[in-house]
Amino acid sequence: MPIEILSYRSLRSLDKGLLKMYSDKTDSIFVVPASEDREWLKDILLAQGSFGSEAFRIYRWDELYRELCTSEEGKAPLIQIDPPDHWLALNGLTSELISRWRDRLPPGVAQSGFISSLGAMVRELIREEVPVEALLEGLFPDCKERPEDPSWILTSLYGEYVDLLRDKGLMDSAAISTEIGRLVAEGGKFMANLKNRPLVLVGFYSFNHSQLGMVRAMVKSGLDLKVFSPVAGLSHEYGSIAQLEGASVKELKSVSPKMFSILGGNGRHELETVARELVLWEKGLGAIPGDFPNWDRIAMATQPRSVSLAVEVLERYGIPFNLAKGRTVADTVLWDTVRKAWDCHRDRWQPGPTAELLCLPWMVPEGDERALARASARGIKEWKRLVSGNERLTSALQSVARFCKVLSSGGDCKTLLQALKDLACSMDWGKSLSAQVEDVPDLDRSVLDLGSAVRELERKLSKIEELQTDLGEAAQKPLKGGDAMAFLSVWAESSTVWPGPTRRGSMTLYPGSPPVMAHYDTWIMTEATGKNWPGTLVESPLLRESQREDLHSMDLRGFRLDRTHLPLLSEKRAQKEVLFRRLMACGDRLVILSRPSVDGSGRPLMETSFIKNALDDRWVTDLGSLDRSDGRVLPQWTEKALSPSEVHQPLAGSYSFRPDREFPKDSCPLPNKTIPLSSVDRFATCPFMFRCHSEGLFPPDLGGFNAALAGTAMHEIMNRSWKAYLQDESVPFTAIVDGLWEPVLEEVYRSMVVDRDLSRRKELFYSDLISGATLIQAMEQNGLRDRRIESMSEMDLPPLAMDNVTFTGKADRVDLLVDGRVILWDYKSGNSAFYSRSLQLAAYGVLLAEREPEPLEIGGYGFIGFRSSSVTGQADDDLRSLMSLPASSRSSLKDKLDLARSLLADLDRAVGEDDFSPNYESPGCSRCGYVSLCRRGELRRKDDDDDDSDR
Ligand code: SF4
Repeated sequence: MPIEILSYRSLRSLDKGLLKMYSDKTDSIFVVPASEDREWLKDILLAQGSFGSEAFRIYRWDELYRELCTSEEGKAPLIQIDPPDHWLALNGLTSELISRWRDRLPPGVAQSGFISSLGAMVRELIREEVPVEALLEGLFPDCKERPEDPSWILTSLYGEYVDLLRDKGLMDSAAISTEIGRLVAEGGKFMANLKNRPLVLVGFYSFNHSQLGMVRAMVKSGLDLKVFSPVAGLSHEYGSIAQLEGASVKELKSVSPKMFSILGGNGRHELETVARELVLWEKGLGAIPGDFPNWDRIAMATQPRSVSLAVEVLERYGIPFNLAKGRTVADTVLWDTVRKAWDCHRDRWQPGPTAELLCLPWMVPEGDERALARASARGIKEWKRLVSGNERLTSALQSVARFCKVLSSGGDCKTLLQALKDLACSMDWGKSLSAQVEDVPDLDRSVLDLGSAVRELERKLSKIEELQTDLGEAAQKPLKGGDAMAFLSVWAESSTVWPGPTRRGSMTLYPGSPPVMAHYDTWIMTEATGKNWPGTLVESPLLRESQREDLHSMDLRGFRLDRTHLPLLSEKRAQKEVLFRRLMACGDRLVILSRPSVDGSGRPLMETSFIKNALDDRWVTDLGSLDRSDGRVLPQWTEKALSPSEVHQPLAGSYSFRPDREFPKDSCPLPNKTIPLSSVDRFATCPFMFRCHSEGLFPPDLGGFNAALAGTAMHEIMNRSWKAYLQDESVPFTAIVDGLWEPVLEEVYRSMVVDRDLSRRKELFYSDLISGATLIQAMEQNGLRDRRIESMSEMDLPPLAMDNVTFTGKADRVDLLVDGRVILWDYKSGNSAFYSRSLQLAAYGVLLAEREPEPLEIGGYGFIGFRSSSVTGQADDDLRSLMSLPASSRSSLKDKLDLARSLLADLDRAVGEDDFSPNYESPGCSRCGYVSLCRRGELRRKDDDDDDSDR
């Protein structure tokens, strides 16, 4: 085969090789994998060669394809479609499939994530040029339709997608090599021109099936072809050398870089340790060996999800840096607003989330979020009434409501994108943000990103009509609700914003992988854990491992799959190791690998095994390590501290152990001296936690399932069902619940009914509800119904006024028995055993027992746990079996009522003295959202001090 492969380990050797061979051959044509590589290649060739007009030509595959087409008269290139358009086409085809087969399809097909999984598989099949008919015959030799089988669904939609693109004259970007291969085989003017100039492919480790076919077609056409191909130093690697049998191979001489490792605590601490060491290194201090190379010769790669954290840490340590790539639109304030607005709309404009949305810094920053939330408006009408006196709030509410209305009533892709643009431009978000930049400099980046995201949106809108004509029906189909959001989300995730101006003398920060030709004196790779490398590899339910293996061993219409085809999980793992080694090769002299020792929940994280393999194979040589995983967040007195980013840890003995720290006295007394009894358990767990909660400081809502709304819905269903049951006790309680649950759920928590992603939650909700109702019905049949003379749902308890506070409560259900005793009930969605220590119902009992002028006698109380279908509580012995409680208990009902009385007295005293000190020994600490506010983590134990003194 007249093709030469020049293999290289280090990118420095690639630079040298390219310079040596091409600095004086200006007629060469180069092909590189991506636009960023073109810049790297230009820099290499320009370093010594003269880069005159038309000297070197550097193409990406899509540019080469267009050149091949346009050089021939009358031949127009196929139109390449973007990821959102690809999504639109597949979504249209899937909708047709759903309307054809409906219930015979697996439920996952209707889930919003299905189109993305399908898209990834379809592109894999296109890249590997798997013929539709061959796939169908290979997987389903009897050619029967099997809509219940995910692989049949894939095969069917793959076939329809390929047909659609062919009919419309479109091309998926995954098919570009197939098209080039076809044009090369056809010959033509450009090919004749190519034959006179060497064609040099740079940076291709391996080729997929379509690329391999294209390269073979090039060789067959007599092109002078050279491939600069990286290697990974793995035994049995399957790169271009193994693929292009018969090619002559020459290895460029390389030197292995050195490796230094850094181990931090959690993810933030890892990045802080890296930043700290870099600054110390610049000053000739710290643990990193060798000379500091200047910031512009250093680059760092993080996982894309960690880039915001990395930016924050680098800024804090004053490290000059440039972001190599812009963030996606999904990471900007534009998308943040869309997501929050849609959540509010789906959940019928609940108080907290709607107040938060309206008072975002770019909406109405001067709005009083807490006052708005406390007004407890629900539904758009109530909200409109609430904000009617404030022009800016009204305008903000109208703009988000208008946008959500378009999404929920539906529209084609152009209508949806236009609605998004109207939302972004309806109020001048950029102006609001700019006005605050002086006080909050971090907002500067948000202003830039927002402007860039809107420009990206305008660009897409300007092309959308063309796409609608090209893609036909699929692009004109109305999308509504979750589908409309899914389309916008694909656009937001695939569009990037401008990364900002580049500053000289700055380090480069890569979110994810760098271009294949990028290399630096010092290369830093963060998060080198087994969790990321190789990470979790799972088989696709659309094409399982066993099916892939079967396809590999078949002869499909004379089309035999190559080893790289439809890679198995083991092959994907090997590809990850190759990528890891190639990333290590980005360091010319030094590679710094860092990793956290624990994840965000404190679980240990292991180092990736790829590092040990690389050391064993001498891919890198070890230069030592720094371990700061022991939680040393602050430097000790014996270490350097980087002021003002860091402060020293106080000297051991400079203050003693807990609680020798003045806890700030409560500076804002409880505004409302009426306390609902539903919060007394929180006070018993920790007064500080109680105080934070009563101030309306709730942990952030991360979207998805909302447990609070689900709980409200469950209570509403039970109350309405119980009232209906009391009207006619001959109808089984379970039947009443079964008939009422869905309409009530839709009224209270609509997302759970309409959102496909919450369908499993909805199933679980229903099954819990029915098991709770069955338990209640069993107690009724067990004699409770006969002993009861009256029952009240949602009963307001008589308030109990104490010295400083008035306690109030609302019982889910109160049963009055024939002998005058009462039983208190509370509905809980989970396991009733979680409430074995709760004093909430006992406190309700106290209110009834202290009622004036007629105190009531408490017979018992019970928490009905729906998930566990059990009751936990306390009762007089003769009522225990009636209430499904165990026959005996170590404590008595009287003990519990006394405990509740004393808890209410404590809480009353705490309010009077404004004393809500944290309970650092609380069992609630392990899952408390206020841990950073109470500063528990900063406290030192006595044994910590003892440990220090031993050192
Ligand atoms: S972490 Fe512990 S001490 Fe701090 S607020 Fe929560 S429960 Fe209280």
